[in-house]
Amino acid sequence: MTRYIFVTGGVVSSLGKGIAAASIGRMLKSRGLSVSVLKLDPYLNVDPGTMSPYQHGEVYVTVDGSETDLDLGHYERFIDVELTSLSNVTAGQIYTEIIGKERSGIYLGGTIQIIPHVTDAIKGHIKALAEQSNADVILVEVGGTVGDIEGQPFLEAIRQVRGDVGRENTFYIHVTLLPFLGSTKELKTKPTQHSVQALRSMGIHPDAIIGRADHEVERDVKDKIARFCDVRPENVFGLPTLDSVYKVPLYLEEQGVGSTISKALKLPNTEPDLAYWRHIAEIEDEEQEPLRIAVVGKYVELHDSYLSVAEALRHAGFHYGRKIEIDWVSSEGVEQYGPESYLSSAVGILVPGGFGPRGVEGMVKTANYARTRKIPYLGLCLGMQVMVIEYARNELGLSRANSLELDANTDDAVISIMEGQEHLVETGGTMRLGQYPCKLREGTRARDAYGEELVLERHRHRYEYNNDYRIRFEEAGLVASGTAPDDSLVEITEVYGHPFMVGSQFHPEFASRPEKAHPLFRGFIDAACNVLREGGQYELPASERTPGGNTDRLRISSGASAED
Ligand code: GLN
Repeated sequence: MTRYIFVTGGVVSSLGKGIAAASIGRMLKSRGLSVSVLKLDPYLNVDPGTMSPYQHGEVYVTVDGSETDLDLGHYERFIDVELTSLSNVTAGQIYTEIIGKERSGIYLGGTIQIIPHVTDAIKGHIKALAEQSNADVILVEVGGTVGDIEGQPFLEAIRQVRGDVGRENTFYIHVTLLPFLGSTKELKTKPTQHSVQALRSMGIHPDAIIGRADHEVERDVKDKIARFCDVRPENVFGLPTLDSVYKVPLYLEEQGVGSTISKALKLPNTEPDLAYWRHIAEIEDEEQEPLRIAVVGKYVELHDSYLSVAEALRHAGFHYGRKIEIDWVSSEGVEQYGPESYLSSAVGILVPGGFGPRGVEGMVKTANYARTRKIPYLGLCLGMQVMVIEYARNELGLSRANSLELDANTDDAVISIMEGQEHLVETGGTMRLGQYPCKLREGTRARDAYGEELVLERHRHRYEYNNDYRIRFEEAGLVASGTAPDDSLVEITEVYGHPFMVGSQFHPEFASRPEKAHPLFRGFIDAACNVLREGGQYELPASERTPGGNTDRLRISSGASAED
């Protein structure tokens, strides 16, 4: 029998509800249970794919190519699962589905209502995930906070699930804020009481409460919450803001959250194996000089826009027992004032994905700086494209080389629009999305990093490396180290003779896990560790010390590929 855990939020948003849900998933998985997760987002957008990063942070791409909420990234990283479009449902999707059915006459003239049509559709999605994943536990997080108008049908739907599948198979957790009053130096419980009242007025009686706070939540505060909210005292937990999200599963486990849930749902409460998570926490607590990695992008004031990138860097750090410190650098700043003032203390430079021309010239300058000074560079999607543009301008002598996205009139579109993307009018869900295979070329940094020939990686783009320039790039030392298996698309490029200058058209950050850092991030951080060890100097392997960058070893083997 599938068990369902519902996580709702109260008082304010941005409480870290997603991290709490992901941590609960980790605790259960560490007990040997299989877990899947569903994020219900009550907003009316169909998906976050068309939303501004200022509004929504990162768009997380699943293997099957859905553009989803960034909480799915937390779930995948913490629980080490691969989710699909079944794991993110928005009100936009629900209404599109219902209105589509209504237009095709499926309701046979009936009146369409929130209850039962909308609630049934929501429950249908919960059931679909349960059936498809066959997981022991389905975690369902409802976005937003209790009291939001859009959220009401979703809360009603999860309320009904208890009746449908039985009280013993459901567990409701409410995550709320406990504000700290500086004048009286205490955590206040009243907003939580109100939030639980609102939840109970909708028929949901929480089984547990997690109080988020900037301070430790003492027993007396928990007892007060228990009394006023009618929750057992041992089911009230505190979660202070910790210095690392990876400590949250350990913290909640120590408080007994895992065993409380396991007992309530009659799940085997075995000793959880959280050894690796303890190891990570130790690295984060160590006194050591961190590796300074510069991330040069357009939205750097909003770190959530590059959430998976930041986490993947940390994972690679865990792999080498190193702490990573990210310098968030505005590409517009680099464009205006030059790279020197921003990048001189970085031992590695990463340019992440992005859209539109703003700040791109600063990224091109960044790529030039990393290349000419032999600083390890990892380019992701747009970060790969700017690396190609820079190489074309400065090594192929194509001074106006650009991407068609950034300059529609460029003489040399070294990055061109993908076939099939030219005439698309709809913007939602129409990019090249999701997982595609990539074949790696022997003798390259990319191949060395992966240690295998064929890999699957997730994409989200409309533009691509222009094969018309491939031979020229190859001869000048910009190597196509990863391609589609039929060689039609260049998916990874790298600079021959550079310690590590690799750009991928895909987004490796989505596949990284704390316990399994992504190979390209590992390769990048390994090269950055070398820079630090060698005091900024990097010795190339003897095989690559040929003057003028002899790329014979890597030359395209069959003429068919590049010219076709
Ligand atoms: N804007 C570029 C494209 O569409 C890069 C996309 C990205 O970085 N995700 O191809």
